[in-house]
Amino acid sequence: MEKRVIRRGQEELKKYVLDARLCTGCGACIDLCPYHRSHRGKTAVLFPCVVDEGRCFAYCPKVDVDLDMVSRHLFGRPYDGNPLGSYQSISATRAGGRLKNVASQAGGVVSALMYFALEKRYVSGAVLTDRRGLLPLPRFVTVPQDVLACAASKYTAAPTLSALNQAVEKGHRNIGLVGTPCQVLAAALMSSNPLKADDCVNPFGLVIGLFCTWAIDFRLFEPFLAGRIEIDRIRKIDIPPPPSEIMEVFGDSGTKLEIPLNEIRELVPNGCSYCIDMTSEFSDLSVGVMEGHPDMNTLIIRTDRGRRIVEEAAQEGYLTLSALPEENREHLIWAAGNKKKRGLSKARGEGMINTQGNETKSYLRISAEILEGLTA
Ligand SMILES: Cc1cc2nc3c(=O)[nH]c(=O)nc-3n(C[C@H](O)[C@H](O)[C@H](O)COP(=O)(O)OP(=O)(O)OC[C@H]3O[C@@H](n4cnc5c(N)ncnc54)[C@H](O)[C@@H]3O)c2cc1C
Ligand code: SF4
Ligand code: SF4
Repeated sequence: MEKRVIRRGQEELKKYVLDARLCTGCGACIDLCPYHRSHRGKTAVLFPCVVDEGRCFAYCPKVDVDLDMVSRHLFGRPYDGNPLGSYQSISATRAGGRLKNVASQAGGVVSALMYFALEKRYVSGAVLTDRRGLLPLPRFVTVPQDVLACAASKYTAAPTLSALNQAVEKGHRNIGLVGTPCQVLAAALMSSNPLKADDCVNPFGLVIGLFCTWAIDFRLFEPFLAGRIEIDRIRKIDIPPPPSEIMEVFGDSGTKLEIPLNEIRELVPNGCSYCIDMTSEFSDLSVGVMEGHPDMNTLIIRTDRGRRIVEEAAQEGYLTLSALPEENREHLIWAAGNKKKRGLSKARGEGMINTQGNETKSYLRISAEILEGLTA
């Protein structure tokens, strides 16, 4: 009998992710081949591809992701639904005195760690996100100083992983990545060799994940801000912690625009509403803003590789570490658990979890018992 091939290629990516409005433009399917491009915030399919099992589908964090497989691959144990994922320790931290005048978002720990990793050649280059106006620009940098030029959050969803695909294509290995949770999940899928290809390499030397509640669609944000502030002269964008409920946009001449977050939430891509990861669970290290201390970071150490780099960076004065107060830890667990519950309940309600067969592709695969626990 002829074997039936279950297709997991471009056609399926288009049907189950792009047309289903699940894409958050992470860039994992861009620049793997000549057929997919990112253009000003839109993931575009330029030409049809007939490959039955494509890397585009296999690396996409928005379709048929088997959480158990990813967790076993990275941490050697099944996915257990812990709100913060698998981790070794959590600290309060900020960049040390070794780096001066960095225009970082919070404590500058992400830039300090990647600078240190590059200077010590623990990574050969780093995939980061720069910007031109509001347009996020994926970058591959090989010089520590260039890490600092990419500091600060661009709140627009970014095709960062396209720069990774280009660097890998050029033969670079042992690469550092800074990404949002969906980008970090795609990176974990890439390193797990889902297509069992003989020539697949794990290109990552260090993965630093950011905390993320949602991102903004560039295509909506640019017209939204036009006329309110000179876009080319934006110096920084920030979202102060609750209860402020505003986004602050700072111009380079001292101007400040305050926008209620309920207006900004209208600009969030649909795909973010299904997202269940607030802290980049599938990274070596995760970093967010420390609540109540906007000039400090919360740091989650997940792997031995990440721990070694943090300890060494601290010893050499690139960052300072202190205990995270228990109330901060509890609030983080609460917020991350809430995000999981929201995303899973929505996806489950729409029949997108653990579906079978070719016509109803899952968004996620997760053990039924853990799903029950997380959505109860
Ligand atoms: C879309 C988005 C949503 C976020 N939401 C939260 C949140 O809800 N709670 C929270 O605590 N923290 C959130 N963060 C993280 C926070 O804004 C800081 O990035 C983090 O605390 C690190 O601070 P830092 O000073 O160490 O970073 P910096 O040293 O300033 O470095 C920032 C790094 O982020 C990378 N980067 C910037 N924009 C993007 C992007 N769009 N995609 C991928 N990488 C990017 C840059 O390459 C740079 O390496 C979010 C970040 C982003 C990009
Ligand atoms: S989420 Fe990422 S991998 Fe999936 S379609 Fe969008 S850009 Fe491509
Ligand atoms: S909320 Fe999730 S899907 Fe949206 S940008 Fe953040 S990590 Fe990606």
